[in-house]
Amino acid sequence: MSEPPWRYLVALGSNVRHAATGAPPRVVAAAMARLNTGETRVIARSRIMPSDPVGPSLRRYANAAVVVETALDPPALLSLLHGIERDFGRRRVGQKWRARTLDLDIVLWSGGRWSDRRLTIPHAQFRGRDFVLRPACDIARDWRDPVSGLSVGHLCARVLKQAS
Ligand code: ADP
Ligand code: MG
Repeated sequence: MSEPPWRYLVALGSNVRHAATGAPPRVVAAAMARLNTGETRVIARSRIMPSDPVGPSLRRYANAAVVVETALDPPALLSLLHGIERDFGRRRVGQKWRARTLDLDIVLWSGGRWSDRRLTIPHAQFRGRDFVLRPACDIARDWRDPVSGLSVGHLCARVLKQAS
């Protein structure tokens, strides 16, 4: 598909409880519900999976992925995702790997590639991240990465093999 409505594969992660929502798995579930309102529809959702922390933070993550359908272009969707992160209490200051209530990343887009100062699609690091690929494989196994030419299922199998 190369025209609207677009489909996006969005990765969700949380490793801090949110006072009003609860522990990280609940934050991720609430964010998934939120993505099914307004200008975005969730047409597939993965299981919510625990994963080990990345970097110096010691908290465990809850991760998931959704396929979202929307007429929004990539910069507009990124702004919407940042607004949702803020609503869940995330502050964009300090070190990169700090604890975070909610992280929403655009992994793949039905339009293919996007690149500007704020945004790169496909997401620059997703091919090496099992915590992105395992949930993604639940819902988008056959979706092909336009950069490597490999499917999400293939990338996931590769990253799990490297880890074992
Ligand atoms: P990360 O997700 O890599 O842990 P952040 O969530 O703090 O780090 O994101 C930092 C910046 O990455 C964002 O402000 C955004 O402008 C940029 N960015 C670039 N490509 C993407 C993408 N595909 N999805 C989400 N953010 C992206
Ligand atoms: Mg992010």
